[in-house]
Amino acid sequence: SFLEYAPAPESRAILSLRDSYGLFIDGAFVDGRGTAFQTSSPATEERIATIAAANAADVDDAVAAARRAYDRVWSRMSGRDRGKYLFRIARLIQERARELAVAESLDNGKPIKESRDVDVPLVAAWFFYYAGWADKLDYAGLGANPRALGVAAQVIPWNFPLLMLAWKIAPALAAGNTVVLKPAETTPLTALIFAEIVQQADLPPGVVNIITGAGDTGAALVAHEGVDKVAFTGSTAVGRAIAKQVAGTRKKVTLELGGKAANIVFDDAPIDQAIEGIVNGIFFNQGHVCCAGSRLLVQESIHDEVVERLKSRLSTLRLGDPLDKNTDIGAINSAEQLERINELAEAGVDEGAERWSAPCEIPENGFWYAPTIFTNVQTSHRVAREEIFGPVLSVLTFRTPQEAIAKANNTPYGLSAGIWTDKGSRILAVADQLRAGVVWANTFNRFDPASPFGGYKESGYGREGGRHGLGAYLAPASVTPGRRTAPA
Ligand code: NAD
Repeated sequence: SFLEYAPAPESRAILSLRDSYGLFIDGAFVDGRGTAFQTSSPATEERIATIAAANAADVDDAVAAARRAYDRVWSRMSGRDRGKYLFRIARLIQERARELAVAESLDNGKPIKESRDVDVPLVAAWFFYYAGWADKLDYAGLGANPRALGVAAQVIPWNFPLLMLAWKIAPALAAGNTVVLKPAETTPLTALIFAEIVQQADLPPGVVNIITGAGDTGAALVAHEGVDKVAFTGSTAVGRAIAKQVAGTRKKVTLELGGKAANIVFDDAPIDQAIEGIVNGIFFNQGHVCCAGSRLLVQESIHDEVVERLKSRLSTLRLGDPLDKNTDIGAINSAEQLERINELAEAGVDEGAERWSAPCEIPENGFWYAPTIFTNVQTSHRVAREEIFGPVLSVLTFRTPQEAIAKANNTPYGLSAGIWTDKGSRILAVADQLRAGVVWANTFNRFDPASPFGGYKESGYGREGGRHGLGAYLAPASVTPGRRTAPA
């Protein structure tokens, strides 16, 4: 199984990458008419492959292909047959899991043990889960005759390239839509390998189209008048622009945006477990996680103990080659992201918070940031308010549960939160008052395809995962036939 292999630095050898990739439109790879770009490894800055960029004419072609496939094939196919294609994709992902994991770590910089044990297994799980829904829509309490929306435009970020693709494509296809998806410009590789899997699965041409390019390609796709639904995951700034742009059009929209999650630790918490959970909460995937537990709210009486234990735990983490199976902290995805992290961390120091960084040796090439903790953080500090999207934890304190809840909710975001306590009644009482779409108790960053994921407030709207995720790609239509009056 894919859990058994032991990737070493030479694991790159299992990849048979092309030197350049085209756009995947209407079931085939074609040349792009935009300016091609390079994708490279953020750990070494070495080139991986040349990637085509889609211009407006290519976006037209992709949307037209998706429309044809929707009208002629996919909307007419039974749910059971759609499900068979999704099951086939899920199995092919499992078969090519090693390759996908290595490609993901190479292109994104995340540690191989994460792409191997978390990302890729979840990608398969997402396709299996939604494959099971495809033939059950009429009986799912989703309204009478739920109908697909049509052509979905899907734009995703670089932090979980393949997993975000699965979150978008699996429910859309299960519900009977066709898709045009644009991966992020720094991480296009696994979406293009996925396009090969779509070919292998013999999916009818045009049901899945993958177009690569930068933000302008995404903007052209979202603006295209042939699109019925826009699904976006990324920054709040771009999400806001998209919401304005589609307002007043026929397009339905779901947005999954940023976060600044509170991870609340009470003095009765199972402390060993909490330390591991705090570390996983913010340092998983270098903190490039929208639901990362980036604000630690710790009860005042255990603050010093928790901070000391965190420092000694962080001192054991290994930063380095993403393809080494012993690596805990991989590379920062891009120079721009590293700059953003640096800027916010400097602001933290300037505003009077105290910075501590784990004593890691930083490789010479590539983009890296040592796991960092800020203490003495005030709620007004930028490191307590703004999403850093990197391996940086801000520690604040509280005395009472009410103060913890008030501080946790004191943010424009509302994606996720964590609670650590031994008291079940406290978990329920606190969770009930948190304005967060996802609450974890005595755990963090746990994902399941059956569970709806999404935020309150500026974290976006709509949910992905579970039955709710399917509803985002369906329009219930109530059809009520009148009784025929018999002739007199
Ligand atoms: P980003 O918004 O800059 O880019 C995301 C995607 O949108 C990329 O594919 C990009 O090319 C495209 N894009 C850029 N400008 C566009 C435009 N005007 N119109 C259409 N598409 C456009 O975000 P990023 O920096 O790549 O990703 C990090 C952000 O994503 C963080 O803020 C993070 O919180 C958020 N995120 C949220 C979730 C979630 O599920 N809520 C998941 C992952 C990341």
